Amino acid sequence: MTNYSNLLKRDRDYVWHPYSSINSKQAVFPVKSASGVRITLSDGRVLIDGMSSWWSAIHGYNHPIMNQAISTQLHDMSHIMFGGLTHQPAIDLAELLVTITPKPLKKVFFVDSGSVAVEVAMKMAIQYWYAKKQPEKQKMLTIQYGYHGDTFGAMSVSDPVNGMHSLFSNTLTQQFFADAPLCKFNQPCTESDISPLQSQLENNHQEIAALILEPIVQGAGGMRFYSADYLKQLRQLCDQYNVLLILDEIATGFGRTGKLFACEHAEIAPDILCVGKALTGGYMTLAATLTTQHIAKTISNGEPGIFMHGPTFMANPLACSAGLASLKLLLNSPWKNRISLIEQHLTTGLAPCTDFPQVKEVRILGAIGVVELHKAINMEIIQPQFVEAGVWVRPFNRLIYLMPPYIIDKDDITILTHAVTHIISNIKD
Ligand SMILES: *Cc1c(COP(=O)(O)O)cnc(C)c1O
Repeated sequence: MTNYSNLLKRDRDYVWHPYSSINSKQAVFPVKSASGVRITLSDGRVLIDGMSSWWSAIHGYNHPIMNQAISTQLHDMSHIMFGGLTHQPAIDLAELLVTITPKPLKKVFFVDSGSVAVEVAMKMAIQYWYAKKQPEKQKMLTIQYGYHGDTFGAMSVSDPVNGMHSLFSNTLTQQFFADAPLCKFNQPCTESDISPLQSQLENNHQEIAALILEPIVQGAGGMRFYSADYLKQLRQLCDQYNVLLILDEIATGFGRTGKLFACEHAEIAPDILCVGKALTGGYMTLAATLTTQHIAKTISNGEPGIFMHGPTFMANPLACSAGLASLKLLLNSPWKNRISLIEQHLTTGLAPCTDFPQVKEVRILGAIGVVELHKAINMEIIQPQFVEAGVWVRPFNRLIYLMPPYIIDKDDITILTHAVTHIISNIKD
């Protein structure tokens, strides 16, 4: 048995993959290594990465500066508890995050994953109102097609249909949902776009602690891009109805949409911000929830006087040093220019898809290119075709999308867009 088929067999025997059945006939592909934008499979095939490992590997893989940062930190300490102790990687990273995120955000709470950053954000909002003697404000308001993670709190504010709320109906908190806006990016937002949210606020603000949503780009819930104008308007509505605004920038943060943070498209600041995914350049699992001095102080001055959260691996030093190295690498790079070039090349490269009858819409924003089909993709057939074409693209449902590492060059983008265009053109009904 070759090493490759041996790995595949043992994977089938012992391992459960994300959102999958153990009976699945879908192939998985053993990876030996990855470097730059290239992923090398255990059988020697090389794929160009179109996914950045789910929005995270923005500098590509095996980056010498990232490797060095982690290896240096490893020799000091890989982990130390964060209760009662602190360390320079966490302090440096927190300071830098406060510097680059919208001005009002002043305090950083580190966690291990995006889902937990969302849990923490919701707990902050609830504790804030509790401290303000408004304990009846415990619910969240959100919009359709969102995705905020897989833990129970995060699921409760993710799209009810995509998130299979019916399956968990007895355990999932019932939150308030408003129809998602139809105004696309760069379009004005009309009365009919904002009114569903406005009426939820009007009717239920006494129970609502916070509005939570992904700014500009809704990721795993449908890869939808919406108007900055909508964000501007909802910021005002939150203030008007005494509801906190939580922005989940776990997917959109760190340049992906062409701004460092997507909320900059609307020139607004949230009360609470979640970041994750690209925070460590895809090297380690780390996320953070940021909030204002006012919210942090209110929680700390009220009952019970502390914030009720503290993960074992909070602010892991290896992860924090990876985060710091990744952010410096990003900020010292011509990232704006790179994203705008990727945007141009994705736009030209995916343009032919617009003409295919299988295709409903092609949309590009920053370093994100989405081709939405009319029908769900048969992954058993399509996934191996992408691998055969020498690219790593992982579609879901009706969506084939590209979000390559920022370091990708024009020729490699062209290989990605050619593969997408060619494979879609061959999809039979
Ligand atoms: C991926 C994602 C999450 C969840 O992050 P995990 O690290 O997978 O827990 C939350 N919100 C958004 C917008 C995401 O894209």
